[in-house]
Amino acid sequence: MDLVAIRAPAALGEQAFAHARALVAFGPRYAGRPGWSKQLDYITATLAEHGIPAERDTWTDRKELLTFSNVRATIPGSRAERVVLACHHDTKCTTGHEDPEHNFHFVGANDGASGVALLLALAPLIKARKNRATIDLVFFDGEESLDWNWNDGARALFGSKRFVKRHRDAVLLDREAKIEAVVLLDMVGRADLHIQEELYSTDLLRRITWGAACATGNRDSFYRRAEAAADDHKPFLDVGIPAVDLIDLNGNPNWHTRTDTLENMSAGSLQKVADVVLTMLPAVEHHYVIRRR
Ligand SMILES: [Zn+2]
Repeated sequence: MDLVAIRAPAALGEQAFAHARALVAFGPRYAGRPGWSKQLDYITATLAEHGIPAERDTWTDRKELLTFSNVRATIPGSRAERVVLACHHDTKCTTGHEDPEHNFHFVGANDGASGVALLLALAPLIKARKNRATIDLVFFDGEESLDWNWNDGARALFGSKRFVKRHRDAVLLDREAKIEAVVLLDMVGRADLHIQEELYSTDLLRRITWGAACATGNRDSFYRRAEAAADDHKPFLDVGIPAVDLIDLNGNPNWHTRTDTLENMSAGSLQKVADVVLTMLPAVEHHYVIRRR
């Protein structure tokens, strides 16, 4: 797909990196940890600085007895139909696991912080943009599996499952317009960036992603490998909402290890993904919001 490149300001990668540094300094950021609430305050305060009001949806999971919190900021567009840009803000819990190998100090620089950091850096640009769709910036909690292993997501994706359910209820009650497409960012800051072609993702959105990677000169960092990855886009796909996951999981040596640190991230990688997302947006709006009518 031929797309016209839209570039973020040159400082955006550094701005996003600075957000990631601040988030990592909070320490582990999963339910119940001090870093968890510090990060949530940081997200809402940063959005507020840019004049973007955000709402928090906080709930306690009855089975797990854990309190989670999603953050959503809605940026108006000329249409009521929504496009979601999302990430997860929780980090993998690396304490209390049976295998001692799975218990270590983990700061989740790329896995967690990079997506939050990039969305926060993009937020003022999205606000300044002439949005055709209503844009929801969403920060999910509880993406990571509470079990060390994924176990088919049985104890994972708490925030996105909750978000989709509430959205469906709100649409039924005519309280909000439908979400037409979702772009999910997960692990988007690795120095040696490689966003895989994620195979659950909706085909047209994958073609838009690849088109944006080519238009911005980033084809080397995208889609050299293909593999499915269950992530926060799955609950949307499961109810028929198109979604794409920009994820650097396949072949990522730092994933869920001690080496997922700021040293293995780069501002340049965040800049690349910012350019790709900004380039994708008009095409997403065109195909999923404008042409639908
Ligand atoms: Zn993870």
